[in-house]
Amino acid sequence: MSEPIVYAGTWRAVMAAAGRRCQCRGECGNPHKKGEGRCPKEHDRYASKHRAPVRLIAAPADPTVTGLAAAALSRGELLAWCPECHDGARRAANRQSRNQPDPEQDSLFDL
Ligand SMILES: [Zn+2]
Ligand SMILES: [Zn+2]
Repeated sequence: MSEPIVYAGTWRAVMAAAGRRCQCRGECGNPHKKGEGRCPKEHDRYASKHRAPVRLIAAPADPTVTGLAAAALSRGELLAWCPECHDGARRAANRQSRNQPDPEQDSLFDL
C-alpha cells in the first residue's frame, strides 16, 4: 500500500470514510453507469492491465477550491477522488462558472 506522505492522517481518514473508493457521483461529467452512479475506481486497484494502479487523492468536495483555501478545509469537506474525476470535475465547475451570466457581457453573447 502506498499513500501520500503529506497530510497522511487526513488522507487516511478521508479514504476510510470513502471506503477507499472515488466519491465522484458524476461531477466530472461521466455518469459512471458501471458504478451505479458512483465512480468505481478504488485505491491501489488496477483499472486495467495496461495502466498503473489508481491513486486516489483527498481533495475538496468543491473542486474549484485549490491551494491554501483547500489546505485550510476540514476533513469533512474533503472527498476521495481519482485523478481523472478530479480533473473532470474541476473542468466542469470552471465551465459552469464561465457560463454564469455576466451583465456586462450579456449582450455580446445574446445569440
Ligand atoms: Zn473517479
Ligand atoms: Zn467521475
